[in-house]
Amino acid sequence: MAHLHPDACPGCDAPDLAFAVHDHAHCASDALARAEALVAEKGLRLTPVRRRVLEILLEAHRALGAYDVLTRLAAEGFGNQPPVAYRALDFLEEQGLAHRIRRLNAFTACMHPGETHAPAFLICRGCDAVAEAPAAPVLVALEAAAADTGFVIERSNIEALGLCPACQAAA
Ligand SMILES: [Zn+2]
Ligand SMILES: [Zn+2]
Ligand SMILES: [Zn+2]
Repeated sequence: MAHLHPDACPGCDAPDLAFAVHDHAHCASDALARAEALVAEKGLRLTPVRRRVLEILLEAHRALGAYDVLTRLAAEGFGNQPPVAYRALDFLEEQGLAHRIRRLNAFTACMHPGETHAPAFLICRGCDAVAEAPAAPVLVALEAAAADTGFVIERSNIEALGLCPACQAAA
């Protein structure tokens, strides 16, 4: 899908942007605009609570637990009913606007909504930053390894834990 903003944006497609100093306001507004367009294309609605949850997830390249999201919603007057947060997170995940990071039992905003992609998640254990890297080559290798054993993969989650450049420098 083409970018919705007219200016060329070299940063938008860089898989390692999450770990680099960058104009995150641009990142977040771009992802939000793409999300709104996608949802509208499907005839669905980004209700105020869904939109707010996405905005909260887009505040940083981090994963947030459902409970953290709920706490924020409650503080902002959306009520403190857990299903409200869970339903909004489920919606965002179903629509490809957010990803579940199983290792952290948390959610992160998708930085490439609308693009077909199988992300590999790079998770910093120092600062909890999460980056999406293209997983296609990894999946090809995994398929080949599985095929050798006659196994058919139905689902895989690729999540790597480590240290981002800033946390390595601080270590
Ligand atoms: Zn960013
Ligand atoms: Zn994504
Ligand atoms: Zn880090």
